[in-house]
Amino acid sequence: MPAKKRLACRDCLRVLNDKKTETCPSCGSASITDDWSGYIVIIHPQQSDVAKIMGINEPGQYALKVR
Ligand SMILES: [Zn+2]
Repeated sequence: MPAKKRLACRDCLRVLNDKKTETCPSCGSASITDDWSGYIVIIHPQQSDVAKIMGINEPGQYALKVR
């Protein structure tokens, strides 16, 4: 499990590897938080029901919930 201090993007839900970034490298949003829960790795978005529900089109690691 990832450490709680990792950051996640509120807009695209992606969990970021860079702990100090202020913008999301994926969507460019500055809405980043360390207050998130749930962790999911999407490998094949086209074949994943979860990815469809979450609106994810790219493989990556995502937070299930951000606040
Ligand atoms: Zn983003």
